[in-house]
Amino acid sequence: MSNKLDRRSFLGRTTGSLLATSILPSASRAAGGTLEDGMAAAQPGGGDLINPADPVGIFPRPHEMSESTGRFLVNEESTIILPGAPSENDERLARYLVQELSDRYGVQPRVRNENSLPKGDRFILMGSISNPLVREFCREHRPEVTAADPGREGYFLHVDDRSIVVAGSDDRGAFYGMQSLRQLIGKGEGQVHVKSVQVRDWPDKPFRGIYLYVPGRDNIPMFKRFVRNFMARYKFNTVIMEMNACMRFDRHPELNEGWVEFTRDTNLSRRNYPPGPLHDREQNSSHQDCGDGALLEKSEVAGLAEWCRYHSIEVIPAIPSLTHAFYLLSRHKDLSEVPGDKWPDTYCASNPNSYKLLFEVMDEFLEVMKPGMVHTGHDEWFAPFGLCPCCKSKNPGEVFGNDLVKVHEYLANKNIKMAIWGDYLLESVRGQGLRRHVTPDGWVYHSPGAMTPQQVKELVPKDILIFNWFWSESEKGRSNEAQLDDYGFRQIYGNMEPDVEGYPERIKRSTIIGGAPSAWEATSEFNFGKDLMYSFLGCSNLLWSTGVMEPAQLSSTVQASIPGLRRDLSGETTPSEAGDAAVPIDISSSFNAPLRPSPFSIDLSGIRVGRVTMGNRVFDLESPGAADGKAIAMVGAEGETPNPLPREVQGIHVGEDATSLIFLHACARPSTNKEAYRLIWDMLDSADLLGWYEVIYDDGLPEVIPIRYGVNILEWNWRSHPRRGVYCYGADEVSCGREGTDSISFFAFEWTSPRLGKVIRQVNLKGSTRFRGAVKGFENHFGNVIPNNGVMLKAISFVKKRT
Ligand SMILES: [Zn+2]
Repeated sequence: MSNKLDRRSFLGRTTGSLLATSILPSASRAAGGTLEDGMAAAQPGGGDLINPADPVGIFPRPHEMSESTGRFLVNEESTIILPGAPSENDERLARYLVQELSDRYGVQPRVRNENSLPKGDRFILMGSISNPLVREFCREHRPEVTAADPGREGYFLHVDDRSIVVAGSDDRGAFYGMQSLRQLIGKGEGQVHVKSVQVRDWPDKPFRGIYLYVPGRDNIPMFKRFVRNFMARYKFNTVIMEMNACMRFDRHPELNEGWVEFTRDTNLSRRNYPPGPLHDREQNSSHQDCGDGALLEKSEVAGLAEWCRYHSIEVIPAIPSLTHAFYLLSRHKDLSEVPGDKWPDTYCASNPNSYKLLFEVMDEFLEVMKPGMVHTGHDEWFAPFGLCPCCKSKNPGEVFGNDLVKVHEYLANKNIKMAIWGDYLLESVRGQGLRRHVTPDGWVYHSPGAMTPQQVKELVPKDILIFNWFWSESEKGRSNEAQLDDYGFRQIYGNMEPDVEGYPERIKRSTIIGGAPSAWEATSEFNFGKDLMYSFLGCSNLLWSTGVMEPAQLSSTVQASIPGLRRDLSGETTPSEAGDAAVPIDISSSFNAPLRPSPFSIDLSGIRVGRVTMGNRVFDLESPGAADGKAIAMVGAEGETPNPLPREVQGIHVGEDATSLIFLHACARPSTNKEAYRLIWDMLDSADLLGWYEVIYDDGLPEVIPIRYGVNILEWNWRSHPRRGVYCYGADEVSCGREGTDSISFFAFEWTSPRLGKVIRQVNLKGSTRFRGAVKGFENHFGNVIPNNGVMLKAISFVKKRT
């Protein structure tokens, strides 16, 4: 692909050169501090039970918070009180908290209506200042909470041993107060409790979004968990959902059929970009994994929008217009701006039939999703200009501007606002006039640069919200945002990342109203888990609290929070988390390598000995030297050069009907986990494959478990240099170094047996051979063979059958 800028390509380029400001309590653990209370992390110090740490963990960090001693105990005697005539929002908050306490903590508090605050007994009260009980509480006990103070979406939260009170400046404020409350709930010694605090909190920015693809049908449950347990919890209030033809159209069923053929053609050709562009020119990115390449019924899409609204999240459908129009043109190639593309990406803006089609499709989305704003794309206008007879005599900037005007007017007449990507409004981003390109076969063509400043001033409606993805220092981001400001636009940081340079100072510009990180890959737990936790959490903290975290600290915090994040997104509780103890299996007879194995610079001589406990999981870090100086089972992943390490360790004896196995492993050195969108046709392999386990049952049937970097393994010395965005979603860090030694980490990966009752005879550990994963860019092929690596297995524990 050429060196043209596209929205996604800069994502890997931004680097963190930030002023580090800690948002974590100073008492946070060496493991980095979790986003929330409640999960145990391994602690250094010999052999030993790890106490779940108990920091007050509201994330994003509240603006004002004080802690005090004491706690509110939550049990069946606790009562959530509602006023005599509760509002819909009051009832939503009560129901939500009851569900949370029941599902996660096994407590079902009562709900009762009261006409005044109860004297004496312990109660939970949540609502906005329109709730009369909340008003009464504020009058009697606390500072003013008004519509203006803390203000829109702001809240006051008070917890002591007698009461929990959430008082919102508005309904959303009360909702976010409850989200903070959710994060304070803990369980210990058989009791569910909430730590005593006082919080006064409000968002820094009003627009806190995430850009993602509408989920495919199989991923709707995960999307709903993501909305409830992630977006709402971390106080995002907007989702920008790209739709394409992923909803069944009544008036244009041919687009659905064309979409499915388009996605299939692109995937089965093993391409990131669609096959068959004219002269192999660069087209728009295809997004063939949107909706998992298929479509939903209207009722399903309506249900998604409804679910978001219930969680105080506004839905902005992204309906690509002008560009990224594969979904419109798959069966209307006569509307293409470029004759000859197999899959056209750009419609002709001089053909009235383009708008007839676009608006008919838009109408169906508007009816179903009922949005207040639509994102209409308008980026990456890469199409050759001058091939289309209708457009060739026109000025490109005017063609672009007139398209914006038409779409804007159509939406404005329905009282719907509009958002676009802003690259073609800035010559500093897209250049001036026509831009020359040469295709691989030598064909020369020209594509439009940006509109001129004059055209932007005269043509473009200034109430269009601009998604600014060109904010980084390397794009001269500060002058870009100043230019948009001068034109009179409001903007948000699109494709936002936690390392916007100079963020606290730049966002003082009042026309920057927020931001939205982007997914650009199928909405699935695998993708979001491995690729996006770092960006999403870092941005949540910036947008709500303006809290800048230094990259190593943020990576560390994300890793420490992984157990909770994984439970929230997967909706699953592993056997060991469900309360069953995981006990060690003696695998020392399979050890084949010492604590300082060659050929890598690995030194595990500072590793702890004996047993280590993490929550319900007990691992046996067998004494080094117990088996001829051999202390780990290790295999090599062979890269470009021969790897002297063995490729397999066979016959690690298990001999148990295990409910789950927990592998405590680490790799020899860093490898890569690239974003899934760099390998759309084979997203699993966007994370480097280092090896795999074969779990062999007594009857001989194997189960194969891939070991992938950033998915379920990281390197043994990750702790000493956590890098920007490097974490591992599927396994939990266990700090294994002795105190006073360099840190040594292994990663606990729990695998639940799909065949309960069947005895697992053995495990074989294998290393991969000449694996090729994703490219750095977006080429339509795999990347280079990965460098040599090694997988080190230190221990296996298992959860026993319940008796
Ligand atoms: Zn045209």
